[in-house]
Amino acid sequence: MKVIIVGAGIGGLTTALSLEAAGITDVTLYESVGELRPLGVGINLLPHAVRELTELGLGEQLKGFGVATSTLSYTNRLGQTIWSEPRGLDAGYRWPQYSVHRGQLQMLLRDTVLERLGADSIHLGASGDDVQQHGTPEDGCSSVRITLADGSSYRVSADVIVAADGIHSAVRRQHYPEEGAPVWNGLILWRGTARVAPFLDGRTMIMAGDAFQKFVAYPLSLPDEDGLATINFIAEYRSDDADPGVSSWNRSADPATVLERFADWDFDWLDVRSIIGAAEEILEYPMVDRDPIPQWTFGAQTLLGDAAHAMYPIGSNGASQAIIDARTLANALATSGSIAEALQRYEDARKPRTTAITLSNRSMGPEHVMQLAYERAPQGFDDIDTVIPFAERAEIAERYKKAAGFIPDELNARPSLSVERGVAR
Ligand SMILES: Cc1cc2nc3c(=O)[nH]c(=O)nc-3n(C[C@H](O)[C@H](O)[C@H](O)COP(=O)(O)OP(=O)(O)OC[C@H]3O[C@@H](n4cnc5c(N)ncnc54)[C@H](O)[C@@H]3O)c2cc1C
Repeated sequence: MKVIIVGAGIGGLTTALSLEAAGITDVTLYESVGELRPLGVGINLLPHAVRELTELGLGEQLKGFGVATSTLSYTNRLGQTIWSEPRGLDAGYRWPQYSVHRGQLQMLLRDTVLERLGADSIHLGASGDDVQQHGTPEDGCSSVRITLADGSSYRVSADVIVAADGIHSAVRRQHYPEEGAPVWNGLILWRGTARVAPFLDGRTMIMAGDAFQKFVAYPLSLPDEDGLATINFIAEYRSDDADPGVSSWNRSADPATVLERFADWDFDWLDVRSIIGAAEEILEYPMVDRDPIPQWTFGAQTLLGDAAHAMYPIGSNGASQAIIDARTLANALATSGSIAEALQRYEDARKPRTTAITLSNRSMGPEHVMQLAYERAPQGFDDIDTVIPFAERAEIAERYKKAAGFIPDELNARPSLSVERGVAR
């Protein structure tokens, strides 16, 4: 079986590795950028994604550069704790939760793809669009037009084409031409990293604030000899603008604007202004997602990752869900009776879950407790139990884990998506 993947982001690269592990080795990736560079800042890999990467043989490397999260805490704007829960191994999962630099993860995946699938497996400076189906998924083939930087183009064919070309997917646009730009919710995200003293136990992720203004921080490194750690932060602010402009991950922002918005944010356990002030560079990104769509698969082509289900970066699920898509698709292609059946199994397994997360994230997902605390006690509280009873807070956290597929016992007990080599069709 020959597979073409359009896009070499987290989703596309993990798909290539998952196919190879399942015994499908005729795999080629086409990526529009001319050079894959370690772009982005921090992302979180939840235990359900760490499991998949571990089963792909990357557990040791992740351990080498990821910080294993111990705790997730939600607080109000005054730094008072609303909800705090153990995470990863501390929560009883068989796999850790890691905070990693997105670029570092992407480079690990790229290098492993080149090592396992060969130096020719990734074509850079090659944009894919105009996917065509020739015959049925079983008897025919699919082809995609590849356009190079000089404007020249050619077509390549495969049994299956996977569009992992991100939130601005050209392949998705072909099937949903009326869709337009991603949907913005009015929040601007200012993202950066800073070398500062670690906070709390040095492995905790915190989210402070509410639906109007929020500060998220988590470590991307343990402290070095100088006692400083790299802290990833996201400062969010509700904008009055009608339109966010471009939705690029790499637009620079003026640090003074961010500092001004967070001028009075100083908790006795976290100095928000010092973190923002120490940032080397601050990147601006609008909080956008896309409406769930009714269909991902068209003949022998299917969508994956952000191309299929771009969601708000709430609940740390964007990259994690792309990784699970990749493993589910490879398992289905290796073990189904036909390509059509495999793509249907993949879509049936993944679409309901990612749709539920996308919609839940629109009402703040697990962060809903922060908004409840703000609405019920805008000036702060002495005892959170009198504001939001424990059972209500626990139910919000549990509901999100259920929707996203990471209830500890269920994840620990779920059979692996790995396929024995030789089982593949
Ligand atoms: C540069 C960049 C920085 C990011 N930074 C962060 C971050 O700091 N924090 C965070 O939480 N998330 C970040 N993300 C998003 C996050 O990586 C994704 O939400 C998640 O990992 C899902 O991955 P994906 O592979 O579906 O999409 P992406 O990671 O977006 O990958 C899509 C890939 O497809 C390529 N591509 C696009 N169009 C075409 C085309 N027509 N033909 C061929 N290739 C194409 C893109 O160049 C990209 O490499 C970033 C994404 C990018 C591209």
